[in-house]
Amino acid sequence: MRLPDDLVDALGNVSSVGVITGAGVSAESGIQTYRGQGGIYDDEAEGDATVEALSAATLRADPGRTWRVVSELARRAVDAAPNAAHEAIVLLEQSLPRFVLLTQNVDGLHRLAGSRNVIDIHGDVLDTRCLACDERGRFTPAEVRALRNTPRCQACDGILRPDAVLFGEMLPEEKILRLHHELLEDVPDLVIVAGTTAIFPYIVQPVLEAAGRGRLTVEVNPEPTQLSEHVRWSLRGKAGDLLPLIANVVAEA
Ligand SMILES: [Zn+2]
Repeated sequence: MRLPDDLVDALGNVSSVGVITGAGVSAESGIQTYRGQGGIYDDEAEGDATVEALSAATLRADPGRTWRVVSELARRAVDAAPNAAHEAIVLLEQSLPRFVLLTQNVDGLHRLAGSRNVIDIHGDVLDTRCLACDERGRFTPAEVRALRNTPRCQACDGILRPDAVLFGEMLPEEKILRLHHELLEDVPDLVIVAGTTAIFPYIVQPVLEAAGRGRLTVEVNPEPTQLSEHVRWSLRGKAGDLLPLIANVVAEA
């Protein structure tokens, strides 16, 4: 697999990059995701039940039900390891003066790989927040594996919630502001969107903004998406195969 020649030439002049990732990048680490966050369950009924369990309403009414699903997602996250796509994204950040990563993934694998300037727009399933006192915390892998019931706050014994965006909840305002500043106002030279079917407006918009301003835009996905016709290069393949090729060109430039 190789990159188009005109893309290789263009990558030599890039000094800032924005990368946007979705479920496909996690899937290459063996993490199946849930419906509505860019992933699917084969069984539609199971998918609907999962979405319901991961809703703000269920968290209020039956937090144990929400936690059964969240703890399963958290177990998948701690059992997985970053893949070649995660590592290529780290190399991009280390090679350039300005870098931002916007991810829809909630497994924390980008940070684990070493990415630093990360906007995890949907949060992280290992992070917690107390519903009573707002204390924030983070599970260790051992705590995730031992998780059985609704976890309680060590400070006040209140019920904890995952510090991730549930269905029916707003995106965190601070992260939306960062997204606007780093991807829509100060548009990077190159915007790469990888492993996402890009259904959410806040994922689509930075790519369209970059394309509209004449920046370099690259899509990496096994299948075409609604963004394919808007980007300058739409590359068919796995993020773990294509992102290392891109990162190596940028790193060597
Ligand atoms: Zn508390």
